Amino acid sequence: MTTIDKTSPVPAPRGDAHDSAPLLEVKDLHVEFHTREGVAKAVNGVSYNVHSGETLAVLGESGSGKSVTAQAIMGILDMPPGRIPQGEILFRGQDMLKMSAEERRKIRGRRIAMIFQDALSSLNPVMSVGYQLGEMFRVHLGMSRKEAKAKSIELMDRVKIPAARARVNDYPHQFSGGMRQRIMIAMALALEPDLIIADEPTTALDVTVQAQVMDLLAELQREENMGLILITHDLGVVADVADKIAVMYAGRIVETAPVHELYGRPAHPYTRGLLDSIPRLDQKGQELFAIKGLPPNLMKIPSGCAFNPRCPKAQDVCRTDVPLLRPVTEEDGAELPGRGSACHFWKETIHG
Ligand code: ADP
Ligand code: MG
Repeated sequence: MTTIDKTSPVPAPRGDAHDSAPLLEVKDLHVEFHTREGVAKAVNGVSYNVHSGETLAVLGESGSGKSVTAQAIMGILDMPPGRIPQGEILFRGQDMLKMSAEERRKIRGRRIAMIFQDALSSLNPVMSVGYQLGEMFRVHLGMSRKEAKAKSIELMDRVKIPAARARVNDYPHQFSGGMRQRIMIAMALALEPDLIIADEPTTALDVTVQAQVMDLLAELQREENMGLILITHDLGVVADVADKIAVMYAGRIVETAPVHELYGRPAHPYTRGLLDSIPRLDQKGQELFAIKGLPPNLMKIPSGCAFNPRCPKAQDVCRTDVPLLRPVTEEDGAELPGRGSACHFWKETIHG
């Protein structure tokens, strides 16, 4: 079982039973940015974990701290202005925040790889994709040019880029957005990592292409038994591929649940708002419900529950007391494994 700490009394959810220890465990992580305007508290006590072969979706509106958490895991935060005043990031039980730069470098890219939203700015425009893929093998595995090229073609096949052999010398701009994102996935897979963090990997793509790329990622994750952290602001795209979800708001996790339970029965008004904002085919023409107001300024997070100014259910206690992430149960008290809510009124929300 996960260690219980004061900010997150609920162990992070698990899609199904795992006997093994988590591959990655983030514990009570805090990240702040010291700027001339003040201190932005971007991450305020996040705890989550992911096991091998498991997909965790991290969901929340823009600015909720999803990417900053990922950057802290990867060790690519801007420091300064970024600072990690508190927390642990355990990879196979070892705290990466306590490792030497050298030890971390060995994990980054090789054991943990990252996929970003914007392939065009991550790829070098003046190098062929084959060269860039091959570089992974030449630099990290010491392969010859010829070997690296053969491996690159193999990888391009693996991510289902048609006519890989013919296209290996093409440049990034010669590929469509969806194909470029497949190349990014290939790069991430190159060194056979244990964990992939994909930060809005399909956000820049058309809806149909989004689904194809997401399915590919899920398929590769299953085949390789990797852990996958899927960061998104779009609940719609992760429904079919995630095992469990952590919903973030203002740098905290406000709800955790196995994915299918979250859709049917959210236990936090923020999650309900996100669900009601998903376009549905059977409601064509109806106006979409959107959560009113904007996410808070992270230099001035509201007291009590950070969501209270936007919450249709807010009471006095919500303006004064910070709700902790607590276990969510059935009405009769029966356990709901992996479920947690940081709402004073979770009972009314889920059972009401
Ligand atoms: P998202 O959930 O959209 O991925 P981010 O994790 O990127 O959100 O960012 C959360 C907040 O952290 C931003 O709104 C911003 O206020 C702050 N932030 C992120 N990076 C920096 C930085 N380099 N300098 C200052 N503030 C930053
Ligand atoms: Mg982001």
